[in-house]
Amino acid sequence: MTESPSAGTDISANPVMVRYGELFLKSEPVRHHFIGMLLRNIRHALTANGLSACFETPRGRILIFGEEPARIADIVARVFGVIDVSICVITGKEVEALSAAAADLASAHLSPGKSFAVRAKRQQKIGLTSQVLGEQVGSAVYDRIPGLRVDLKTPDYEIFVEVRDFGGLVYDSRIPAPGGLPLGTQGHVLVLLSSGIDSPVASWLAMKRGCEVTHLHLDAGRWAGTDVLAAATENHRKLSCWCPGEDVRMIVVQNEALFDEMQRLRIQPRYRCVICKRFMHRVAAGIMQADGQQALVTGENLGQVASQTLANLSVISEAVTVPVLRPLITYDKEETITLARRIGTFDTHPGDLACRAVPKMPSTAASLVEIQECEQKLDMDTLIKNACGNPLVITARDGRIRE
Ligand code: ATP
Ligand code: MG
Repeated sequence: MTESPSAGTDISANPVMVRYGELFLKSEPVRHHFIGMLLRNIRHALTANGLSACFETPRGRILIFGEEPARIADIVARVFGVIDVSICVITGKEVEALSAAAADLASAHLSPGKSFAVRAKRQQKIGLTSQVLGEQVGSAVYDRIPGLRVDLKTPDYEIFVEVRDFGGLVYDSRIPAPGGLPLGTQGHVLVLLSSGIDSPVASWLAMKRGCEVTHLHLDAGRWAGTDVLAAATENHRKLSCWCPGEDVRMIVVQNEALFDEMQRLRIQPRYRCVICKRFMHRVAAGIMQADGQQALVTGENLGQVASQTLANLSVISEAVTVPVLRPLITYDKEETITLARRIGTFDTHPGDLACRAVPKMPSTAASLVEIQECEQKLDMDTLIKNACGNPLVITARDGRIRE
């Protein structure tokens, strides 16, 4: 990785500066690997959107040089591992150069009577202190636009100046990105994806922590609302926007026969939800064994619905030995909805998503022994084998379903 913009890089351009977070905590080789993955993901994201760019990696930052900095910033602000992005002006390291660029930038945004603050930073602690640098740049801005007020606490406008090995950087905004870890650094998970609000958020949170995802949807046929499969596919499509340039698969398996059998054999309706979830977990575990995912992710939450009491969750977990991750376990519904809106999966008119099998009074504390007796009557092993026999795979990429 280079320390400075290389010869041939157009340093008069406005690079997009990328800040990444937690990677600082890692040892040198791990950090190197993670930054490599982050660069790869950013490159994929830009290429998938038809943008070409070149990169410099001065310590602790990534600088992206390309023709459309605003579009680059917008796209990179959706890449996991990135904390925030700024469109910068590159200058010399001298205070005069930084001041001139800061004053130019400020004059496009400030008018007399407004307040401003300069935030200064130096990579190497030599020469002027950050405070003196900030004051000198501030004076230059003040001289250029008379009638401004300095307000370091709650300014109308902030200007950031940084002195780095290769030169100076001046910018006035930090566009927030999701943070987390670069996608693909934490292995591969299988996500039980429904037509609802929760599991898409759980999938996104797994991606945010660096996991590649494959989705699994169970299609209950006539027991599911008429829009369920379409809404689950829509969730899958939208989530693929967060893995730019990558194929994301959704495996669809039928579980209509399970509900038919529960009805035919008069299994107590109050056990249906727990039996259904155990079935889903077991199908998922079978797929993971063949497909290689290392953990199962669900959108389950403590106490949200009757099947999600601690007692029921432990009976559900007992069905499998694979690790089950429940990123939303402690979230309030409002917190999940806020995140769903932010990531773009919240739909105000999702259609008919009602599950026709949900009983009036689902059991909140199903006993494992009773559930296992029901499952024996149902011959779960055969039902699971049949369900997994002929899965449909729907692939999405960059927000489009691929034929
Ligand atoms: P969500 O919880 O995703 O909003 P939901 O409320 O319809 O969907 P729950 O009964 O809360 O479903 O199910 C708990 C979890 O089980 C879901 O978060 C999801 O991970 C999984 N799940 C539910 N239905 C399906 C399905 N048809 N296919 C795959 N996974 C499912
Ligand atoms: Mg739910």
